[in-house]
Formats: sequence, structure tokens, C-alpha cells
Amino acid sequence: MAKDYYAVLGIDRSATQEEIKKAYRKIAFENHPDKNPNNKEAEARFKEASEAYDILRDPAKRENYDRYGTADTMGGAGFGSAEDIFSHFGDIFGSIFGGFGNVNPNAPQRGADLRYNLAITLEQAFTGDTVTIKIPTTENCSECEGSGCAKGGKRTRCSYCDGTGEVIQKQGFFRVSTPCVACRGTGETVDKPCPKCKATGLTETMKTLSLTIPKGVETGVRLRMEGEGEKGTHNAPSGDLYVILSVKQDSRYIRKEEDLLIVEHISFIDAILGAKKTIQTLHGEKEITIAKGTQNDDTFVIKGAGMPFLRNPTKYGNLIVQYKVDIPKHISAEQEKLLTQYKELDAEKPLQKLKNVGKKIGKAMGLTE
Ligand SMILES: [Zn+2]
Ligand SMILES: [Zn+2]
Repeated sequence: MAKDYYAVLGIDRSATQEEIKKAYRKIAFENHPDKNPNNKEAEARFKEASEAYDILRDPAKRENYDRYGTADTMGGAGFGSAEDIFSHFGDIFGSIFGGFGNVNPNAPQRGADLRYNLAITLEQAFTGDTVTIKIPTTENCSECEGSGCAKGGKRTRCSYCDGTGEVIQKQGFFRVSTPCVACRGTGETVDKPCPKCKATGLTETMKTLSLTIPKGVETGVRLRMEGEGEKGTHNAPSGDLYVILSVKQDSRYIRKEEDLLIVEHISFIDAILGAKKTIQTLHGEKEITIAKGTQNDDTFVIKGAGMPFLRNPTKYGNLIVQYKVDIPKHISAEQEKLLTQYKELDAEKPLQKLKNVGKKIGKAMGLTE
């Protein structure tokens, strides 16, 4: 996790620019190196505060930091920035592609990292649901307790590779090392193999894990579950499990980062006369206002009724309601009569307008009052 710049400056997440500046100045003044010669602690405080101030004073950087926990404005909402939130990727490739090489097979080897793709609904991303996942895993064979030997059998050094677990072959100029086939790279063979695990000492099984989805996640966010990957050999630590999240497309909401868009159908009468309506949102029921003379595609914004910000789940994006004006395909005879009246009324308007214009001109020319 990145540093909490707000905590560094001792301010609230809603702090104003003025409050940020004030907090920084105070810390910078008290811990300035000129005032605190040879004081490493003060120096560190000073540096930390400067770093925090540099980000939070800049609205664009601050916004990015609030959302993604990084001030890198180039990051955007893409995979790259989301990935950095749960960093610690240092050795993922190392352990996957490390393979055998010239490693002593009997030396402890960290288990491989595993990847699990998890698709969640928008609601789950909204509430930060806890889900259970089932992943394949290996455990010590129950029959032989991991030894790989059947009753009365024993493990002996592999004679084919002389216990190294690898076989070196010459191919032209190259020396190619491959895992020994006889002992499967373990350096040892079993005289009486365990029938259940076929001498590997391991059996495959499924394990159930509980996982809490952080509020506000987007597609591409990775969650790391330490030690939930493949088992290590010879008591080496297990690998990690990386859960790659994808948020399924919702039938009702269109998501744009933290904002949500919904389409609301309204009658042409409501569009003309204006109305109030209650709609269901992720935040419960909300009232929307249809202004008099609403046009197709006009929008109404409900502030704070969108998705939570991943970095600051107490903050929410907006809900944008887009109106679609419905024209009825069938109307009753009564309605048709009334609308015809309306049409006639509307036709009179230009004449009235003309009269008004006439009046104005007359007035301007001093002909009328
Ligand atoms: Zn061997
Ligand atoms: Zn076994």
C-alpha cells in the first residue's frame, strides 16, 4: 500500500487547499533541516511532508491519488494503475518461469503462484461483498503422508541422474538441462511407489477460500492472497494466489469510473408538464425531478449516488439519469380529441406572436401606447 498522504499531514480527506497548505507549513517549519541539524527523524518527517504536499496541492494529482492511490496522472483507470494498488509483484514471474534450471531438486523451492479469474457483479463491487472461491491445490498424500512410498518402501537416490534431478544433454554447442524423467526432477526414486499418489507424495484437491472484495473495484484489479498458491517443496513457503477481478456488465447501469448512468423512460406528458418520480438506485430509493419541457436525452444528476472510490470508499461518484421521452403508439379517442384541441391551440400561437410583435413595432414608432 502506498503512503497515506493525508495521515502524513495530519489532515482530513476533505481538507481544503488552504488547510493542506497550513498543515504542510507547520510540519515543514518544525522539522526543517536548518532548525534540526543531524536529526534524522526530523529530516524524514520533512521529506515525507514535502512529498505529501507536492501531491495534495495539485488538484489533478490529488484526484488521482484519491482514486488510485498514485499521483501518476498518466495512469488513468486502465489495468496498469489498478494493478499497482496491490503491488508486491516482484517475484511472480520469477517463480512461474524459474523452472528447474540448475537448481538442486532437494533444495527447498517456493511454490508457484496461481492465478484465479473472478467475475463479479456491479452490486458486489458496490457493496464490497465477501465471496467464496474454490481453487485446486495439492496436499500431502493421505495414504503415504507425503513420502510417495507404499508400505515397506523407501526413497533412494536416483541412479539415473545421480540425485541431481536433472539430465544434461549436449545439443551442438549448447548444454541443455532437463528434469530427470526417472525421478521427475526430485533426485530420488521410490522402490515401492504409493498407489494413490504414484510416488509424488501429493494429491490434488480443492480448497475453499473466503475473499472480501474491496468496495469500488474495477475490472483488472488484482488481489493477492499470500500463501494460497501452490505448496512449496521441502518446507519452503507456498506461492501466492492472485485473484484477477472483472466486473460484469450490468443490465441497468453503465459505469464510467465512479459515475453511473441509467436510462429512465418518461411519458411525453411528464416531459412537457414536469414531474417528480422515485427511482431505485444502488443507494436505495431516490427522487428525481423531470423539469418542465424536458427533451429527449436530457439528464438529471444525483450527486453521490454512484460507485464508491476504491481508494476512499466513503466517497462516491454520481448517478446520471438520462431521460428518454416515450411517445405512445396508441391513444384513446378522448385523448386524441384533447390533443387535437392542443394542436389547434398551438396553431394560434404564431398569430398571437405576430400580434405581440406588431404591438412592439407600433410602440417603437410611437403609433400606439
Ligand atoms: Zn533422477
Ligand atoms: Zn501417496
